[in-house]
Amino acid sequence: MGEIMLDQTEPIIAQSLKDLKNYVALASVSAKQQAQKQTAQFIKQLLEDRLDATVQLFNDYQAPLVFAQLQPKQPSETTILIYNHYDVQPEEPLDLWQSDPFILRQTAQQLFGRGVADCKGDFISRLAALQLYYQEHHDWPCNIKFLLEGEEEIASQHLGDYLAKYHDLLAADLILWESGAKNEFEQFTIEGGNKGVLCFELTAVTADIDLHSSYAAVVDSAAWRLVEAIKSLRSVDGQIKIPGFYDEVVPPSVTEELLVQENQVPNLTNKWNLQVPLLQNKSINYNLAFAPTINIEGLSGGWQGSGVKTVTPKQAQAKLEFRLVPDQDPQVIFDKLTTYLASQGFTDIKVQYLLGEKAYRWDLQSDMAQKLITTAKQFYGDQQVAVLPSSAGTGPMHLLHYYTQADILSCGVGYSKSGPHAPNENIRLRDYLEFIEFFVDFLNKV
Ligand SMILES: [Zn+2]
Repeated sequence: MGEIMLDQTEPIIAQSLKDLKNYVALASVSAKQQAQKQTAQFIKQLLEDRLDATVQLFNDYQAPLVFAQLQPKQPSETTILIYNHYDVQPEEPLDLWQSDPFILRQTAQQLFGRGVADCKGDFISRLAALQLYYQEHHDWPCNIKFLLEGEEEIASQHLGDYLAKYHDLLAADLILWESGAKNEFEQFTIEGGNKGVLCFELTAVTADIDLHSSYAAVVDSAAWRLVEAIKSLRSVDGQIKIPGFYDEVVPPSVTEELLVQENQVPNLTNKWNLQVPLLQNKSINYNLAFAPTINIEGLSGGWQGSGVKTVTPKQAQAKLEFRLVPDQDPQVIFDKLTTYLASQGFTDIKVQYLLGEKAYRWDLQSDMAQKLITTAKQFYGDQQVAVLPSSAGTGPMHLLHYYTQADILSCGVGYSKSGPHAPNENIRLRDYLEFIEFFVDFLNKV
C-alpha cells in the first residue's frame, strides 16, 4: 500500500488518542468486576459527544449493556452493527509490564496498555472513522448501531440473557466484530467466524486416603484412573474417539475450503521452537479453521514436592476443553462424553461441565462482505489481505447471529505481536491510522 494520509495532528485523530488514553485508564477487568458501571457510562458519553448517537444503557445485570444508534437523514435499508466489549483481561503478572497497564504509553511507533488490542483501540478507531466520514458528508452512510457488552472476557455470561430481552433492537445486515490483527505475514486479516468451546473437569477419587504405594500391586491410583480416562478420549493423531462426537459437524463448503487454502501456512515449529510434531491429519490451516479439538489445560494430583514420596494418590483432577465447530452443541457433546466414559468403565470419574459456547462460521460471500474485502484489498494491497471463514478461537458470535441472522466479520487494529491478554499489550500507531483510513473508505462505498 502507499502512504496513508492521516496522522496524529489531524484533530479527530488527536482527540481519538486522548479518548483511548481515558478509556484505557478505566481498569474494566470483568474477572474482578471492576469499573463496570463507570466504563459503560464513559462509553455512553463518548458515543453522544463524538457522534451525537442515541444511546441506551441497560442495567439488568452487573455489567451494563450499551446500545447506540446513528440514523442518516434519508431512511436507509442498510444497517451495520458494530460489536465491541468494554471489559479487559486482568493485568497480572504486573512485573512483566514495562509500564503501568492502565496508563496509555505512546512511543514513536506503538501504543501500550491493557485493552488497546482487545478491543479498546478497535472501538475508538471505529468512532474516529465515523467522525471523519461525518465531517466530510454531514450525514451517515447507512444505519449504524453499536452494541457493547462488559463480560466478553468472562465468556459473555449475561449476553444471551440481554439479547433474549433486547434482540428487537439489533436487526442488521452486517455485524462488524470486535477486533482483528494483521498476521505474521503482515496481512490484514478478515475473519468470518469462530469456534465454539466446551470446558470440563475430570476428577478421579480412588480411596479415602493416599495409600502406601506398595498397594499399587493391587490398587490403581487416582492418577492412573485419570490418565487412562483421558487417554480413552483421543487417538494419537488427534481424532476424538467419543462415538457420535463428529455427527453434527458441518463440513466446510467449497468456498470456505478455498479461502483457507489461499492463505499462507504459518511455520509454527519455528515460531514456538516446538519439540513435538504437528497434528496434521489435514493441513495446518484446515485444522485451525475447521477441526474440533480436545486439549488438556492442566493436570494435578499426588506428590509433586521435592524428593520422593512413595504414595498411591487417592485423588487426581484435570481441566480439559473441546473446541467445537458448527453445528456441535456443547451440552450434547457433554452428554456424549459422560455416556462414553461410563461405557469405558470410568464410572468412578466425576465429570463436571464448566462452560460452553457454540461455534459460528460463514464464507463471507455477501455483497456487503465482498465490498469490505475489496476495499481492504485496494487499500492494503491484493496480497496483503487474508480472508478466513473462521478463527481458531472462541467468542459469542453465534449468539449475535442467532438473534439477527446477520453475517458477521471481524477485523481491526492489532498485529501479530499485539499480545492481547498478555503483559505489554500493544498496537502500532500505523495500523491504527491505516484502519481508520480503510474504514472511512469502506463507509464511502456502503
Ligand atoms: Zn476481545
